Amino acid sequence: MSSKSERKKLMANLFKARFPFLYLATWEEGRALSFIRSIASDEDLIKTPRRVITWKITTGMSGEESNKAGTKSALKALEFIEDYQEPAIFVLQDFHIFFGDVGRLPDAQVIRKLRDISISLKQSSKPKNVVFLSPKLKFPDDLEKDITIVDFDLPTFQEIKQSLDEMISLNKQGGRIEISLNEEEKEKLVNAALGLTLSEAENAFARAMVEDGRLSIDDVEIVLEEKEQIIKKTGILEFVTNNLNMEDVGGLENLKRWLRKRDKSWLESAQKYGLPSPKGVLITGVPGCGKSLISKAISEMWQLPLLRLDIGKIFSGVVGSSEENMRQAIQTTEAIAPSILWIDEIEKGFSGLGSSGDSGTSSRIFGQFLTWMQEKVKPVFVIATANDIASLPPEMLRKGRFDEIFFVDLPTHRERVEIFKVHLKKRLIDSTVTGDFEITIDKLDYLAKLTEGFVGAEIEQVVINGLFEAFYEDRSVTINDFEKVCKQFIPLSVTQAEQIKSIRDWANVRAVAATPREDRAEYKENDETVSIDDINTSRGGRTIDF
Ligand code: ADP
Repeated sequence: MSSKSERKKLMANLFKARFPFLYLATWEEGRALSFIRSIASDEDLIKTPRRVITWKITTGMSGEESNKAGTKSALKALEFIEDYQEPAIFVLQDFHIFFGDVGRLPDAQVIRKLRDISISLKQSSKPKNVVFLSPKLKFPDDLEKDITIVDFDLPTFQEIKQSLDEMISLNKQGGRIEISLNEEEKEKLVNAALGLTLSEAENAFARAMVEDGRLSIDDVEIVLEEKEQIIKKTGILEFVTNNLNMEDVGGLENLKRWLRKRDKSWLESAQKYGLPSPKGVLITGVPGCGKSLISKAISEMWQLPLLRLDIGKIFSGVVGSSEENMRQAIQTTEAIAPSILWIDEIEKGFSGLGSSGDSGTSSRIFGQFLTWMQEKVKPVFVIATANDIASLPPEMLRKGRFDEIFFVDLPTHRERVEIFKVHLKKRLIDSTVTGDFEITIDKLDYLAKLTEGFVGAEIEQVVINGLFEAFYEDRSVTINDFEKVCKQFIPLSVTQAEQIKSIRDWANVRAVAATPREDRAEYKENDETVSIDDINTSRGGRTIDF
């Protein structure tokens, strides 16, 4: 999002402009409080420095003069704020409990009182602001117009580095940990901790230190491991680690080329060309044709971390509120940018918007997501994959959201050749199984001919089932094994011809074919290829070759 000084300036401006209620949703109370204090005391930033007074349900308002006022009660605390005669910022910790939490109704009196003091805060002669500081973003609709949500980003590289430096210097004053890190190695360690809160990062460093009594570059692994665990615990995001690369994806050359051209586009060198970081792609099409596969392979191609977002869990309500979940997911991916955010089966979250039953939650999250897509400046590349794209709301597909929408169709003859090659190579590794079966272009061609209408996943299944034939008879594999399986196999495209036709029709208008022109010409029995015009009417997606 922005550097720490920009964030301070933004917050100071909100204080100066007399915004009565600001809401900071974060677990990091300590860091948030010192952030607020540093603004409140900075004359250059805020003009009129203010006292920072905190409130907790256990202790009431902090500071001498409030003790007698019995401010543990929320209503009394609000009266105290109303009567206070000096410039001040009141930080109310955990006030969300009055806004209705699991098993708790909103407190009508507190809400009414807040609405009353909102006006008096704006008009008071001395500037006063209220900040709600809670781990959860939760407030009633009645206060929507009065409250301004302020993003409290995860710590920056500099902040984490400072905290690591402090840990190291504390250790030097009598600690027993051996520190063997040069500046570059230290930066790698800090980078590994990006995406964590400050205390999580400190815990990860501490664990790395105590594990073998030494802090070195090897500890990057431990910090990354901690981070994976912590991110997994959120239940919404997951680090995808795999060793897939583009060689594992048969066909889809047009999409691959598009991606290849955007490699390193988040680096400064791309800015010389005036290029923005790419926003992302929406990949749609026939199930089982490699949409997930290629999403995973981008991470290796671009050498960037890949986070998978479970859109279903955002809405499930099992973990936190939906808005909060979406916000956290965005914050985490931004903190580790440049990064890739993969939203698998995006239609599961955003289809059927506006239908009754969800009290507008999905519309709100959808709006939140679109605004972020449109305005994001951090290099987070979004890959959204969808099977049932027709159910997605049209706003999602409008220009400015995704850079491109790709359609992945049933693989063409040439693509089936490539897919067979990938899977045969992957599995034929033992010479006793392979025998004298060689993977030749003739064999691949023959298998591709037998599998018209098969999706990639079915071709993989053909390879596996063929190998079972050989395994059962304890012999090496032959072309007949695969031939037999192909002939028995009924691909889904036959039973679901109607659905495929309708998604192709949809794609013809809205999406670009992931398969390039040269691979689209279908192979016919007499070895003649049909013209591109014929293909364009029988396959999905526009032909724009990158
Ligand atoms: P989708 O996301 O389009 O539904 P997947 O990417 O999950 O499909 O495909 C399932 C499996 O099928 C993959 O893991 C892979 O083994 C195989 N597969 C599908 N398409 C291809 C392809 N183009 N190249 C190689 N393998 C493929």
